[in-house]
Amino acid sequence: MRKTVIAGNWKMNKTASEAAALIEDIKKNLNAEEKAEVIVCVPFTDIAAAVEHTKGSVIKVGAQNVHFAPSGAFTGEISASMLVEAGVEYVIIGHSERRQYFGETDQTVNQRLTAALAGGLKVIVCVGESLDEREDGVTSEIIVRQTKIALKGVSAEDMKKIIIAYEPVWAIGTGKTATSEQADEACGTIRAAVASLYGSEIAEATVIQYGGSMNAGNAKELLACENIDGGLIGGASLKAPDFATIIHSC
Ligand code: PEP
Repeated sequence: MRKTVIAGNWKMNKTASEAAALIEDIKKNLNAEEKAEVIVCVPFTDIAAAVEHTKGSVIKVGAQNVHFAPSGAFTGEISASMLVEAGVEYVIIGHSERRQYFGETDQTVNQRLTAALAGGLKVIVCVGESLDEREDGVTSEIIVRQTKIALKGVSAEDMKKIIIAYEPVWAIGTGKTATSEQADEACGTIRAAVASLYGSEIAEATVIQYGGSMNAGNAKELLACENIDGGLIGGASLKAPDFATIIHSC
């Protein structure tokens, strides 16, 4: 049985004091024991507040990026050890906004991912096709390529620390959600790619999330799909009652 993981991606939203208030609000909407694992991926400047306010709760803290070098002349970047020492457990890598606006490539995604694991972080790695790629009928090729390159050099043992998020680019922040059939099929394709690399036992144990305009209204149907083991949620994770409804839809 795979666990269900619901992660909020706050993107560039919330100051530290706003982060504290939102986490307090989320906690009020959650039970002491939740079936799903819950993560909030916050901006770097919110990490200290998030760690403080999630203490003793079911909520874990994630960051939204990490550099591939352990230290050095990389102005504006942040290393895995800096995140770990700050109390961060997870990091999102390869989000489509990083690929689209900040020159992230399949190769740098792989470099960041292996550095994150080496530094002691767990990873949520994002893959997904653009609208043109879906319309051109190459969705499977794109997500298989992104998955295989992202996982290059990752050991079978380390696959326990990896969550893969299928995020069709055309569904992120657009209000357009993939149908449950489209999302389930793509997550199944990713699982098959993992099986081709690591065998079916590891593929069956790998958590694969869907992300792209998941909200309180559509979460239940998406999360009921066989190959969807959770959600990576942007906009709806900034509203405590909506985020809690998604968590309770598992
Ligand atoms: C995301 O940022 O990963 C995301 C899925 O955003 P949204 O839920 O707003 O589409």
